[in-house]
Amino acid sequence: MSDASPSNCPDCRPLGDVCEIENLQDEPGVQNFPEAAKKLRPPNELLERSPGSREKLLKCFTCGAWFEWSMRIPGGSEDVFRTWIMESLRRLTPKQARAALESEVLDEKKSARYGPESVKRAERFAEGANRARAELERSETAR
Ligand SMILES: [Zn+2]
Repeated sequence: MSDASPSNCPDCRPLGDVCEIENLQDEPGVQNFPEAAKKLRPPNELLERSPGSREKLLKCFTCGAWFEWSMRIPGGSEDVFRTWIMESLRRLTPKQARAALESEVLDEKKSARYGPESVKRAERFAEGANRARAELERSETAR
């Protein structure tokens, strides 16, 4: 059985393994994630992504499950005058969560060239990632 299968958690079970929504750029909010998505929070306060990031990690603090929110703008739409934005929310195993964390640390490091603010943010993010990594390792060895 996968660690990432929907749990019996009352808070995040409605989200299943993957949730996807699609909205027109100029009509946001027509499709929304289930209400349960509002309960997810960043794993810790240091894991704040740069503005404009298209991925971020979220956690259900009731059961400890990790999720990745991501956003993309699919190309090649036949409707060239309208831009669709797809958002997805995907449940992660602790292993997947660690991999996602590593790639976001790299992303933040790359954006650190945009000035002192982004350097600071990348440093905070790396510190938050260390904390989150330790926590994920504990949850992996706990079973
Ligand atoms: Zn949960």
